[in-house]
Amino acid sequence: MTAPAIRARNLRKNYGDVQALDGLDLTVERGEFFGLLGPNGAGKTTFINTLVGLVHKDGGDAEVFGFDVEADYREARDRIGLAPQEFNVDRFFPIIEVLEHKAGYHGIGSKEARRRAEDALKTVGIWDKRDTRFDWLSGGMKRRFVLARALVSNPDLLILDEPTAGVDVQLRHDLWDIINRMNDAGTTILLTTHYIEEAERLCDRVAIMDSGSKVEVAAPDDLMARGTDTIDLGLAD
Ligand code: ATP
Repeated sequence: MTAPAIRARNLRKNYGDVQALDGLDLTVERGEFFGLLGPNGAGKTTFINTLVGLVHKDGGDAEVFGFDVEADYREARDRIGLAPQEFNVDRFFPIIEVLEHKAGYHGIGSKEARRRAEDALKTVGIWDKRDTRFDWLSGGMKRRFVLARALVSNPDLLILDEPTAGVDVQLRHDLWDIINRMNDAGTTILLTTHYIEEAERLCDRVAIMDSGSKVEVAAPDDLMARGTDTIDLGLAD
């Protein structure tokens, strides 16, 4: 049997007294475009950080394509591209070199790393900025770059933590187009958002999280059709 893209079972993470993940059960199938909704502090980012190994779980299981995210760290991590909410990008090198370095981290040889870096910058529309440092990009270009960095390893699972928070409408639509193309080409997507339009337009299914666990999984249209008075989706104004 083929393992799903993501499988979390009874996943737990505490920060002191705060139960950031409180027995989360969640499965994302291969090829799905899956959304995570929920109010601030629901545990969405903690879940993502657990999948990529930035946070160590306190209990339960998490697998990516059948690889345990802790025991099989390298195997799991090489399948994931992450565009995080908080950027932490090397500021001393031109962005194309940052991408080549990232590809190298995934064990990709230098010639292929260069090709991947070029492709990624073209895909997100900032090829002309390839020799610029990250700090010198505009806010919107930084968003594009962070997506390029996630793409450079050709991930099977793309995780996007609020990829369009605070961007203008044009860029939001551009990013949606790019992400949709990735999904059409077979990449599984896990995306967090506070925008219902984003969830409705992009996602096959969404999970609603609150207080560290899953409240519900539904197709976005079903959720809206039923009304959302009883569930806090954590939507932006
Ligand atoms: P948002 O929508 O605001 O991004 P979120 O759903 O992603 O929120 P998390 O960032 O995962 O939620 O936070 C879950 C809980 O864990 C919150 O109560 C938060 O304050 C707490 N938390 C997250 N990271 C840490 C940390 N490094 N140290 C202590 N507490 C943390």
